[in-house]
Amino acid sequence: LPGIATVRIAFTTERATRRLIAVGSGKGGVGKSTLAANLAVALAGRGMAVGLVDADIYGPSLPRLMKAEGVRPTAKDKQLLPVATDLGVPMLSMGQLVAPGQAVAWRGPMIGSALGQLLDADWGATDTLIVDLPPGTGDIQLTMIQKYRPAGAVIVSTPQDLALIDARRAIDLFTKVQVPIIGLIENMAGYACPHCGGISHPFGSGGAEAEAERLGVPFLGRIPLDAAIRAASDAGDPPARHDDEGGAAFRAVADRLYE
Ligand code: ADP
Repeated sequence: LPGIATVRIAFTTERATRRLIAVGSGKGGVGKSTLAANLAVALAGRGMAVGLVDADIYGPSLPRLMKAEGVRPTAKDKQLLPVATDLGVPMLSMGQLVAPGQAVAWRGPMIGSALGQLLDADWGATDTLIVDLPPGTGDIQLTMIQKYRPAGAVIVSTPQDLALIDARRAIDLFTKVQVPIIGLIENMAGYACPHCGGISHPFGSGGAEAEAERLGVPFLGRIPLDAAIRAASDAGDPPARHDDEGGAAFRAVADRLYE
């Protein structure tokens, strides 16, 4: 593949017929779903057969980010068929299994079976699934890890101490169960003021890189805090496809997954 060197992450189990990459965070709102969507779109842009699974049952946002809101997946022989998107990335979301706006109040076993439906769907030729996990270290993360053995995990954090403390917990969980940490991504890094052009750091600066070094995990790069990223995401037009600073940052991080 152009620009992509040898694959650092390897299959970890016989069960996995396709590689699962988990995208996690300790804290909500740090941009985990934004990263999951844009990593998938950027890898698809490099010619990879990537699918996207939204396992964030409590706050599924990938349908909006991928312009697939309100699209119900169909099923064949009791197996779900992923929803095709215009972005070259088939996807399935917990949000597509419930009515829009409906709160999900499921206990562990229900959640586990819903997750199974998404991951065991008919993914066809897709060889890599990016899985957007809910924040934290709960039921979904454990089911996903034990039953589906991700090939690796990417952890997203802002540079802020509070987010980093939680990111450390997420890293600890994956490490304990021997899922390799592909690396840590710093999101919402420096903000370029559209008025004066000056760079400010609302959530601090460099924290995730320093933390990655401390924990001995790779640092995969930083994504700026950028109003254009928020606007494009809300419009279902993933910024990873844009020819601007934000787009370049997402593509650079995606390429580092396979360094
Ligand atoms: P999480 O999945 O961690 O809860 P989201 O990906 O849903 O977080 O992001 C939370 C909000 O922050 C969304 O409105 C998203 O558009 C916005 N956002 C995420 N990353 C950035 C960024 N780098 N610049 C600007 N807005 C961002």
